[in-house]
Amino acid sequence: MTIIGRVFRRVRNDVLGTVSRIATNEPVVALTFDDGPHPVYTPQLLDVLTEYDAHATFFMLGKHAEAHPDVVQRVAAAGHAIGNHTYDHPSFPLIGARERRWQIRACAATIAPLGSRLFRPPYGHESLASHASARLLGYDVVAWSAHASDWEHRDSGWILERLLDQIEPGRIVLLHDAIYTPPNPEVADRSAMIEALGMLLETLTPRYRFVTVPELLTLGRVVRRWYPPPDRAFLATLPNYERYAPPRRRPPSAPSA
Ligand SMILES: [Zn+2]
Repeated sequence: MTIIGRVFRRVRNDVLGTVSRIATNEPVVALTFDDGPHPVYTPQLLDVLTEYDAHATFFMLGKHAEAHPDVVQRVAAAGHAIGNHTYDHPSFPLIGARERRWQIRACAATIAPLGSRLFRPPYGHESLASHASARLLGYDVVAWSAHASDWEHRDSGWILERLLDQIEPGRIVLLHDAIYTPPNPEVADRSAMIEALGMLLETLTPRYRFVTVPELLTLGRVVRRWYPPPDRAFLATLPNYERYAPPRRRPPSAPSA
């Protein structure tokens, strides 16, 4: 690679990239839970985290936070961090900048004043423009560096094995306390993930310390990665395409047609 190529990559990753982990030898990990809060599963999860004195970050959907403000309060009161995961989970590169700003602000309003300035894009989909939308509103964008495909129907042993394979100092772990538009009821059931989490914490505590993303980011050099945008042509061939790009909604401030 030429020097210009290396400089370009460095700037792109370090300045415009998405947080994926921190570089550290200290045994710290940030667990993150997306798509909630859920009235049943989130409280169950909070109990497990409390049992092991573990802290986590919940990237909430505005639509769910609005429906369950009591659960939002409980999450914050237990010392966990709350991040923004949009109002209702569209793929950000597939919607316009105005709608993206609406999505982030509408979610922020439902978690205020408890929400942090951390944003996680639905499906991890990003483009330069969609990344800029979040940054210009003052958010940092957080992805992950470990996951156990917990949006698929798997048993707790399967999920645990994958998490144990991937957990290393400084990693950010993606899990879900709810699944937005689950393809089937088995996937909506979070019991296996919660059971796996209990086994994980039993295995790794007290060797590892489980901290919120805001705390993790203070504990080592932040490592950013560049995530290529999703292939629109490919997404358009999916039978559930509308899951990724719901019908366009006119932001409240737009003039009516
Ligand atoms: Zn999500």
